Amino acid sequence: MTHDRRPPRIAIGGIEHETAGMLPGETSMTVFDRRRVRPDELIKRSGEANTVVDGYLQGARERGWEVAPLVWVKGTSGPPASRATFDTLLGELLEDLEGHGSVDGVLLSLHGSFAAEGIDDADGAVLQAVRDCIGPDVPLMSVHDLHCNLTEKMIGPADALAVMRTYPHVDMKERALHVIGLMAETLAGRLKPTMAFRQLPLLWSAPRMIDAESPMSEAVDQVVLTNDLDGVVSASLGVGYQWVDSPSVGVSTVVVTDDDLQEAHQQADALAGWVWDRRQDWIAPTLKPADALERGVADGAYPIVLADQADNTGGGAPGDGTEVLRLFIERKLDPSVVLYVVDPITASQAHQAGVGETIAVEVGGRSHPDMGPPVKMQAVVEGLADGEFVYDGPMWKGLADSVGPTAWLQEAGVSVVVISLPQQPVDLALCRTLGMDPARFEYICVKSTGHFRSGFAPIAGSIFNVDAVGLLGQSFADLPYSRLGRAVYPLDGDARRGF
Ligand SMILES: [Zn+2]
Repeated sequence: MTHDRRPPRIAIGGIEHETAGMLPGETSMTVFDRRRVRPDELIKRSGEANTVVDGYLQGARERGWEVAPLVWVKGTSGPPASRATFDTLLGELLEDLEGHGSVDGVLLSLHGSFAAEGIDDADGAVLQAVRDCIGPDVPLMSVHDLHCNLTEKMIGPADALAVMRTYPHVDMKERALHVIGLMAETLAGRLKPTMAFRQLPLLWSAPRMIDAESPMSEAVDQVVLTNDLDGVVSASLGVGYQWVDSPSVGVSTVVVTDDDLQEAHQQADALAGWVWDRRQDWIAPTLKPADALERGVADGAYPIVLADQADNTGGGAPGDGTEVLRLFIERKLDPSVVLYVVDPITASQAHQAGVGETIAVEVGGRSHPDMGPPVKMQAVVEGLADGEFVYDGPMWKGLADSVGPTAWLQEAGVSVVVISLPQQPVDLALCRTLGMDPARFEYICVKSTGHFRSGFAPIAGSIFNVDAVGLLGQSFADLPYSRLGRAVYPLDGDARRGF
């Protein structure tokens, strides 16, 4: 609460990671370093990019607040971080916070399904540590990814948290500005944010999370209806992240009211009840790539886009599975393209050879026995790029990224783009740096589950989420769960909602 004329000082930063606990290995500090923004860099950002942190910066500046910058790291999804990596990241955030002395509020960008060695709920640990640092009276608020596994440990230390509603996540900035509004009302003494949440024992199929389509559009409508109720100041739904074996996994609802805990609980439960009653709707049947091609050809709407969701680099998969590339070659699909196979060795070979040369390569299939075998190609190097680009689709618009040396290879009409660092195709910006127009292909495979729609939905004739071999399979019954801690739908058809 500020009663003097000094503008409020608001700390802004975050630690973001979507942790796929079922993947082997660990997410190293190098991965977090790829997108690490130091406080002195954060304060200089224009606030124009479509991210939560940029939304906070824009909102804080519009209101004349003083920004106390913290570190902001955004690690590409992958296996859990080691305890040492987690401790270092949290230590850095807390050191930055303490360095500012007292602040009037803290705004964090957290994924909501971050886990580290021995810590199932790393976001909860971050929020609790920040709360311990700032004391009980300073408002602490956060925005989380739609794919969050929210827990009581996150709700307890925070005054308010909000979850994105879109997939692809195009509302990152909008959600940040929503939370800025809650912070402003709280600082002005007009709001006492009071939060309740409810977790459901429910797994949700990724293809049923696309908010532009039914049934997800109806779920988002229900969230908005709840948000707009008298007495409710914020309502959220988290659909969960399923490739981690922990009791945190599940769907959740959050409702914030103005000093009315009973109403918050009632509305969080009502929203959760609505979701639970429609639980069958959130489960998608599986579809093999060959069957998807058959359906696409029968429909005749080109380009046919296959979303190779089990090898979605955005979810932490290695991105070098070769099943769909082999299928495109076997079927002689011309013109077709696979975007992107993570293969630094092949990318390097192509860079050494140069554009226009034909090279013998073995593409992909190196990371894990299930992902191969590598695909032998006599490929023409059609384009080369350094992998530096700026997203220009609705999601992450304005954000710079780097995927390392990148090459466009082509044999008999089948193209593949190989990149050196894992990233999913979100829009057409990286392809453009290779001189490639993805719209001219009749068959496109993207190693992505939903975010590719940001840039690819406008050019797609038809889209199919397919279940090729991969480490992030969508068949929940086949995932090695042992620590969920309760009966969960659809693994157990008799699971109870629990309230
Ligand atoms: Zn997400």
